[in-house]
Amino acid sequence: MVSEFMLQQTPVKRVLPAWTQWLERWPSPRDLADSSPADALRMWANLGYPRRATRLHQSAQNIAQNHNNQVPNNFETLITLPGVGEYTANAILAFAFGQPTVVLDINVRRVIARAWQGQAHPTTSPSAIERSFVQSLIARELNAQTTPMWAAASMELGALVCTAKTPQCSICPLEATCQWNMMGKPDNTAKPKTQVKYLGSDRAERGRILKILRLDHAPQSVHVIRQGASDKDQCDRALQSLITEGLVVTSGRGKVSLPGD
Ligand code: SF4
Repeated sequence: MVSEFMLQQTPVKRVLPAWTQWLERWPSPRDLADSSPADALRMWANLGYPRRATRLHQSAQNIAQNHNNQVPNNFETLITLPGVGEYTANAILAFAFGQPTVVLDINVRRVIARAWQGQAHPTTSPSAIERSFVQSLIARELNAQTTPMWAAASMELGALVCTAKTPQCSICPLEATCQWNMMGKPDNTAKPKTQVKYLGSDRAERGRILKILRLDHAPQSVHVIRQGASDKDQCDRALQSLITEGLVVTSGRGKVSLPGD
């Protein structure tokens, strides 16, 4: 559980020494629960995203008080602990308890997308169809003993061999059956929508208007606001959308302000 918390947003290389020190100092949830959140934060040091340290501390308190100092071994309870989402709960069940859960990180999803679905890359986030596909794959091919090993192995395969940019198919155990490899590795994944440029957009114009109103603390003339705009139509559109959403109010006599100004 500690390693899964640390690995949520930090690479393995940085996690390993911190994880070792953490468990030396706090070998059980109660040991951590008896320390202060400040201690947990200090120990977290430079792992980043320090909310994880306080959530781990809260989880340790919960486990010490309510679960006899044992990390729960079922999804329904794990998911109620602070900082434990679906992915972390499944990873704990697979790697700590050897349960046949689906651990879908980006590396596993890339291997599945290529080897079974013939797609160069997975979609941005797993869909219900993808989850049920993986569930059925696991139910068909694996059992309670082999699923945790498959979870770890597929993660490693995606991280080290089937990498996003340079998959090493010649050393991959799936080379002969991989759909994407057999198709000649086409660039067949729908490109993610390119983000609309901020500069010159309606969003930027809304930001400009709000900035004027934030700085001035008083109703401003629409005429003055329009004067500073490079595109008057865009200014009108942006202002109207702000008024419609209640972020700007009309104050009479051609003036507008932030609500409450
Ligand atoms: S054969 Fe190549 S593309 Fe297919 S899973 Fe292995 S490394 Fe990935």
